[in-house]
Amino acid sequence: MTKDTWGQVCNALQKTIGRNNYLTWIEPLRLKDLSDGIARFDVPTNFMRDWVSRNYGEQIRQQLIRRGVEVDRVEFMVSAPAQLAPEPKPVPIEKMTRSHRAKAVARSDDADLPAAPLDARFTFDSFVVGKPNELAHAAARRVAEGGPVTFNPLFLYGGVGLGKTHLMHAIAHELQARQPELRVLYLSAEQFMYRFIQALREKQIMDFKELFRSVDVLMVDDVQFIAGKDSTQEEFFHTFNALVDQNKQIIISADRAPGEIKDLEERIKSRLQCGLVVDLHPTDYELRLGILQQKAEMYRQQYPGLTLSNGVLEFLAHRITTNVRVLEGALTRLFAFASLVGREITLDLAQDCLADILRASDRKVTIEEIQRKVAEHYNIRLADMIGPKRVRTIARPRQVAMYLSKHMTTRSLPEIGRRFGGRDHTTIMHGIRKVEELRGSDSQLREDLDLLRRLLEA
Ligand code: ADP
Ligand code: MG
Repeated sequence: MTKDTWGQVCNALQKTIGRNNYLTWIEPLRLKDLSDGIARFDVPTNFMRDWVSRNYGEQIRQQLIRRGVEVDRVEFMVSAPAQLAPEPKPVPIEKMTRSHRAKAVARSDDADLPAAPLDARFTFDSFVVGKPNELAHAAARRVAEGGPVTFNPLFLYGGVGLGKTHLMHAIAHELQARQPELRVLYLSAEQFMYRFIQALREKQIMDFKELFRSVDVLMVDDVQFIAGKDSTQEEFFHTFNALVDQNKQIIISADRAPGEIKDLEERIKSRLQCGLVVDLHPTDYELRLGILQQKAEMYRQQYPGLTLSNGVLEFLAHRITTNVRVLEGALTRLFAFASLVGREITLDLAQDCLADILRASDRKVTIEEIQRKVAEHYNIRLADMIGPKRVRTIARPRQVAMYLSKHMTTRSLPEIGRRFGGRDHTTIMHGIRKVEELRGSDSQLREDLDLLRRLLEA
């Protein structure tokens, strides 16, 4: 890659993330080299390294790919002596040297397990519980108590950024605190595969089997990753069975329910369903606000000089509905930015500094989708939604659809009217008012609106 290409990437980034963000975060990066599909950058501080890699790593990678540069990964390293002492970083499996590996695999007595590092921040204390995740949380708590195994496996599933990994780490922390002698092994399904392949290559498959069968608690994150990878699935299946037979606890996560994972062997699917399967639902407004309040509290201690105006957190909870990771990223950036420029965190600052995130999480729901979902929900025909019938069983759902169209899209009333069979904008306004009025007294309607909103946002 030439300096030129990087220059082009910089220009593109400047456009998408805004000049301020660009100057603060991208400009200071120094491209060091590109080899084996890894682009390496020097950054001046640990803080920047974490922050840039979390918020811009993927964008940088995409931009490079778009210009024909082959990159699988971007890495950021602190160049100058860091301001903060670097945290001891466990060696990632793929970077282990021979001696590391030998140590990790061969020592089987009390040696540290070659587990993936646990994030110290992912504890039960820092996990905010709300309606969408209360069941998953309760199940995780139960397993973390480490009593007799009651459900095996515990299978947690849900969309990206909803807290699966957080809960798994929390279980591991808690188990380790309560029973330090317990051998808890946490790793991603991808790492499981890596180790398996490595063991095959180095003819240490017996060691591999022994290692995985000797743990007390096995946690495998993102198990959907092994779908379609036949020999890894096979090995996983045997490991799984061996542990279940010994009555050892297994905890699995995936991005969807066991039955919905494509290219996963039937026998594995049914095994995974044997225990307790719980899902993390998309967040609701209250949960998002709760999470933001908790994080903001933490940042207030970290940046004592900063003040946060009223309404900023509510604004973010309302606007950023994608996932918790994005929500957190937004808050982190906001505090970092405000502390750099020494300004109070106001709504204006938030809108300015988070323009790209806010744009990206703008719900792009269409009126057609709304009409379809609402019709489905009330069990009426889509044609009636748009047609002239005025009986209540059809008129009410139609008004609900009008209301949602107003609140979930940026369409004007006349535009909405056109999509409802060419109705006048005053008719639309009337429909919306009607729903607003009823919403106050009719709890069923409120529930319907909530549910439909969630379905449409998902
Ligand atoms: P997943 O593994 O489901 O993709 P993660 O567990 O990695 O999601 O969560 C993404 C981020 O959101 C993490 O930083 C996590 O701490 C945070 N997070 C998710 N849910 C919650 C919650 N209920 N309370 C506090 N933080 C949360
Ligand atoms: Mg995860």
